[in-house]
Amino acid sequence: MLRRLRDVMARPGEVQNRLDEIVRIIAAEMVAEVCSIYVRRPGDLLELSASEGLNPEAVHRTRLHVGEGIVGDIALRARPFALADARSHPKYAYRPETGEEIYQSLMGVPILRSQRVLGVIVVQNRSSRQYADEQVETLETFAMVLGDLISDANMTEGEPGGGTPVHIAGAAVAPGIGAGRVVLHQPDIVIRRVVAEDPASEAARLDAAFEAMHSSIEMLLDVAGESGGETLAVLDTYRMFARDAGWMRRMKEGIESGLTAEAAVRMQQNDLRARLGQVPDPYLRERLADFEDLTNRLLQHLTRGDGEIGRPDDVTPNGLPEDAVIVARAMGPADLLDYDRTVLRGLVLEEGSGTSHVALIARALDIPCVGRATGVVAEVENGDAIIVDGDQGQVFVRPGEEVQTQVQQSLAMREAHRARLEEMRDKPAETKDGVRIQMMMNAGLIGDLRQIEAVGAEGVGLYRTEIPFMVRRDYPGVAEQHELYAAIFEGVGGRPVTFRTLDAGGDKKLQSFLHDAGENPAMGWRSLRISLDRPSLLRQQLRALIMAADGGPLSVMFPMVADVEEFRQARDLLDREVDRARSRGMAEPSNLSVGAMLEVPSLIWQLPSLLAEVDFLSVGSNDLFQFIFAADRGSERLAGRYDTLSPPFLRVLKTISDACHNAHVPVTLCGEMAANPLDAITLVGLGYRKLSMGPTTIAPVKEAIRACNSKGLTEFVESTLSSHSQSIRENMRFYARDHAIPC
Ligand code: PEP
Ligand code: MG
Repeated sequence: MLRRLRDVMARPGEVQNRLDEIVRIIAAEMVAEVCSIYVRRPGDLLELSASEGLNPEAVHRTRLHVGEGIVGDIALRARPFALADARSHPKYAYRPETGEEIYQSLMGVPILRSQRVLGVIVVQNRSSRQYADEQVETLETFAMVLGDLISDANMTEGEPGGGTPVHIAGAAVAPGIGAGRVVLHQPDIVIRRVVAEDPASEAARLDAAFEAMHSSIEMLLDVAGESGGETLAVLDTYRMFARDAGWMRRMKEGIESGLTAEAAVRMQQNDLRARLGQVPDPYLRERLADFEDLTNRLLQHLTRGDGEIGRPDDVTPNGLPEDAVIVARAMGPADLLDYDRTVLRGLVLEEGSGTSHVALIARALDIPCVGRATGVVAEVENGDAIIVDGDQGQVFVRPGEEVQTQVQQSLAMREAHRARLEEMRDKPAETKDGVRIQMMMNAGLIGDLRQIEAVGAEGVGLYRTEIPFMVRRDYPGVAEQHELYAAIFEGVGGRPVTFRTLDAGGDKKLQSFLHDAGENPAMGWRSLRISLDRPSLLRQQLRALIMAADGGPLSVMFPMVADVEEFRQARDLLDREVDRARSRGMAEPSNLSVGAMLEVPSLIWQLPSLLAEVDFLSVGSNDLFQFIFAADRGSERLAGRYDTLSPPFLRVLKTISDACHNAHVPVTLCGEMAANPLDAITLVGLGYRKLSMGPTTIAPVKEAIRACNSKGLTEFVESTLSSHSQSIRENMRFYARDHAIPC
């Protein structure tokens, strides 16, 4: 049957004639009164392009939008649909010109090619027919073969997108604007041959590919076996999936029906994707995604070194273009790190919100990113021009001239701004009246440290150590952590760096640590609380830090301290690790500086005893603010409701800075406040002399500080503290404007 279809397709002559014959063949094979092919046209239309059974006049006249009617729904969701009584379905869109009212049942499947819906093939019956799963699969097999004809005949006239501009509104995930050319992450492998000559040899090829895939998974397991724990468990499950009998059987059935091995694998993949879209449970979706990954591996094994049958389509020759914008359905954080950062201009994801791991990495690498860009993968081709607006959450594919001009202007403005700020790099952050502010940067990835010089940071005031824990499913051991921390010491090139111990939980969920977050994760069992209850976790980290310091200075701080006693316990673990190092003849840190983060309000009333024990204090204004106002820092609804520049919060900050100065204990502020020039100068007015912030914000904050007069600023800020207004932001804005402070 498939061979017959293929022969018809291969025949010379008008495509229309071939389509007409194909619908006749399929209708007969499926014992259906109607078989119709709808082809996708520019403007997201589905055009009835051939039909056996419907009125011939309707062909090329009947058009539906993607999403309209049952046929449109099949195209929209890229999944099959079978209905014994189609006419009573709410999606049924009756088209009188087709004469379809007499047909009660309907089954349709998408015609797919490279994850794109090229059209829909539909069969209809007069009677109320219950189509069986096998019949759906048979129709899917035909659709697979048809995909080639439609695509090769260019019937969709350049669809998807048809070369026309497309605008997709998504979610702003990482700020900035990037323009460049599309690089599809994991470009699809195009299957050149769908119909098999010899099913037996296809089955043998599939077996061989399975074999190769299994042995590569076994190798992964061997390597993972050394680290043990979670990785092993995850890969074990993965291996179990790879050996799933039902999955293999379905592929074999595809081959028996006449498909090549890769076509049978691809059909299963399409089917999985369709099912994936319907699964609401994120856990199950992830499991199904494992199968997706496995089918990709299988396809790679099948097509490796086999230029005849399949080849990776559109893989960018000679690596990435100079201005690559990665477009992906979904992506793991490690995948993004695999790309050459220097050429990445942006990232667009169909799935993925601001809190996904890959988003975190994108922000850390300063790559503009838009998430939830529905349908983008289907819209783009490798090499398409694309603009990513990570500030507004917009994506422009093949943008028109007007958009391009606007974006170029905006990019030029940013560039001019950047150049101006670069001048700041080697200038000290000193107020006009000579008060020096230390400018430190926050970091969380080794890659961040590359910027340390360029942005003129004096050191790292907060190194968030949890990111390596967040982006992987297992837990790095001492040796691995040692290597990482040693690389950080090297990366800062002799500048000071303060490591914060693991701050797990709350907004920083670790894959390796699936603990019960409780009803109130930010206030639950998190951060230092976990570390103190699982001391081996903390001790391993401290051990690795001591080893990495290698006899040099070491600065460590503990997050989320709520009680001085917790600080004592953590410090005690550190001292024990130093003793351990000493007793083993290892170098101990030449200068050990141990601090606490002030993030929990309870510490404010323990300052005298706390300050007697710490070497320094670091105010985590993000958490402190959320606890003072009882306002979840991650809540979009509450964003902007309360202000950091509010008298109560500023009074808290002043209390802390005064207490530290009186006790001669250095204090830093390392939350987001330090990154906003207006907030930062307010902090200077409150007495803060050391700030730590994201690297890209150092220059604008420095520029603002250099325009201030510390004495006048302090007087002004203090005068506002007793104000009864909700926020002094406006007052600060006026002050900045009147004193020509760029904020
Ligand atoms: C803070 O809470 O202000 C802080 C710096 O820590 P994080 O943002 O990592 O919680
Ligand atoms: Mg915090």
